[in-house]
Amino acid sequence: MAIDVHPVSPDEALQRLKDGNARFLRGESHFPTVQTAIVEELADGQQPWATILGCSDSRVPPELVFDAHLGELFVVRVAGNVLGPSVYGTLQYAGAHLKTPLFVVMGHEGCGAVSAALDWRFDGHRAKSRIELLLENIVPAIESIDPNLPKEERLQAAVEANVRHTMKVLLSTPEAQSSTSGIRLVGALYDIDTGRVSFLD
Ligand SMILES: [Zn+2]
Repeated sequence: MAIDVHPVSPDEALQRLKDGNARFLRGESHFPTVQTAIVEELADGQQPWATILGCSDSRVPPELVFDAHLGELFVVRVAGNVLGPSVYGTLQYAGAHLKTPLFVVMGHEGCGAVSAALDWRFDGHRAKSRIELLLENIVPAIESIDPNLPKEERLQAAVEANVRHTMKVLLSTPEAQSSTSGIRLVGALYDIDTGRVSFLD
């Protein structure tokens, strides 16, 4: 199926959502990850086996990338896969109540939020006020990046540094420090060109 790239009006976008949901309800999703039987099975509750903190980027939906069914992944998506009060709360819920055995922080190649943080920190490019509040969460992660690296290389290094920084912060939380539950935290990088996810050491 070819990707349609022509401009879409709000009405058309809404219609697409309605059409997509209708396909979903008929069990005719384009993606094989959604099945009506599973919807019914999950009505009583969820038992996801992984919590994923990923980016809002439209090209990196964890359920599709990992070919996961409904009910399998507990997903937090925020631009630049950064932490913040709401994200902390969501992750704490995942750990304390859902008890997902695996936590993944997933960054991706060509991340716009990380790119904007680099532009702000090293090149003085300002962003809108609330975007800068978001970027403030990324800046500490990229302090050690060599600003003189070629642009693409600099961004790739910053994306990985951002994932590692988030993992480090999470590992320093009281939950992680005292955890005897065997919960695992891993970092991951998604390659925009190939769709491949590499897990960090
Ligand atoms: Zn991104």
